[in-house]
Amino acid sequence: MIEDIGPDVFVRIRTDLLVVGDSIMTDRHHASNGNYEDTDPQNQIGGIIPAFSLSGWLRHGMEKVVQKRGSTACHPGEANANFRKDGVYNRDLDAGYHEKGACLDDDDDTGCVILDLFGGFENHPGKVMRRPIKFSPVRSSVDYTRGQAEGHYRRLNRNVVSRNKQDNREPLRNAELDAVGNLDGSWHLSFREVKPEFIALLAEAIEYLDAHNTDFMHQLGGARNFGGGIIDCELVNPLYEAHELRRVFDRSKNSTDKMDEKDEKWETEYLSEFQTVLAARVDEK
Ligand SMILES: [Zn+2]
Repeated sequence: MIEDIGPDVFVRIRTDLLVVGDSIMTDRHHASNGNYEDTDPQNQIGGIIPAFSLSGWLRHGMEKVVQKRGSTACHPGEANANFRKDGVYNRDLDAGYHEKGACLDDDDDTGCVILDLFGGFENHPGKVMRRPIKFSPVRSSVDYTRGQAEGHYRRLNRNVVSRNKQDNREPLRNAELDAVGNLDGSWHLSFREVKPEFIALLAEAIEYLDAHNTDFMHQLGGARNFGGGIIDCELVNPLYEAHELRRVFDRSKNSTDKMDEKDEKWETEYLSEFQTVLAARVDEK
């Protein structure tokens, strides 16, 4: 069954507002031909959302799934790293985590399912590559089959102003934020090796993250107190072909009978079998 699943899997990501620090890369200098105005709603700026925040967000969801299944997850930080807060690391170890790489001791060299997927300990390459999302405000130029999204870049200003009446709200501090509004697109994940437990874990994590998308811990990026990073997400049925994937994002079309059939098949046959493998793998730890 797993042989029916290709190495490329897509997650639909939708959010009203995404702020990922100062790390959105834009093409504004090209797109504006030198006349770029931050605040001009007409600006047609596209860019790239790097995968770092996305990866952390997904990983946290996967850790939760492993913990809910009664096991512990690899901590993302090495035990011997110079954490500024030693106590916090140890507290994490008491709350559903094991030391990063500790799972390598007791069997072969694959470790727990989280380490197997994300790698990063003593030159263990991860088995899933998390790609950046390229976004554009022009929907017709978005290629969802390549992990792209429609999204509208804005530079936002935040002012902290004086509280003294005589200052007339004089700004004390000004911060500029890079933000993408009304993002809707696909996030492309490539598995270097496709294992049933990986796909089950991904499916369950995405479902968990969608159900908990207003939890502070599970929002994505910054501005969480302001409703930033509330992500509606769903795994696009891995059985879909490219034209069906495209159709998911086409607001003028509903799913076809064939797609509905594949959804049924996915739920009842594939996912449940992959979940059995995941349960076995998580249990043995
Ligand atoms: Zn581990």
